[in-house]
Amino acid sequence: MNVRNCVKCGKIFNYIGGVPICPACKSKLNDLFEVTKKYIRDNPNANIAQVAEECEVSIKLIHQWVREERLIFAEGSAIGIECEICGDNIRTGRYCDKCKYDIQHNLTGAYDEEDAIKKSKKDEVIAKMRYLNKDS
Ligand SMILES: [Zn+2]
Ligand SMILES: [Zn+2]
Repeated sequence: MNVRNCVKCGKIFNYIGGVPICPACKSKLNDLFEVTKKYIRDNPNANIAQVAEECEVSIKLIHQWVREERLIFAEGSAIGIECEICGDNIRTGRYCDKCKYDIQHNLTGAYDEEDAIKKSKKDEVIAKMRYLNKDS
């Protein structure tokens, strides 16, 4: 049997997986989530600080829910979080549409190309240095 201490209340419980939170705290957290979700739906113009205060949840937790795509802010809502790559304002998830597209289409190859150019330039410099050394 896998037992763990709940990260919220410290009680020992039967650990099944995921975040180590006991069933009691988990259901409390779910209630909080529902309250927060409802509040955001009813108050689309509230900002994150307001939501956190009204629903008695931490801003960090709200961010986490948004990153997990459990909370989605309405289009035109004052609330949003930043894309983890470019910092653009987004409604849910971790990245904006543009960055998501880049990731999905694996445009990282472009960066590799840039690195290759940098590397070849570096080799050039080294070659020149060798040449200069030979000359002197
Ligand atoms: Zn607990
Ligand atoms: Zn982005």
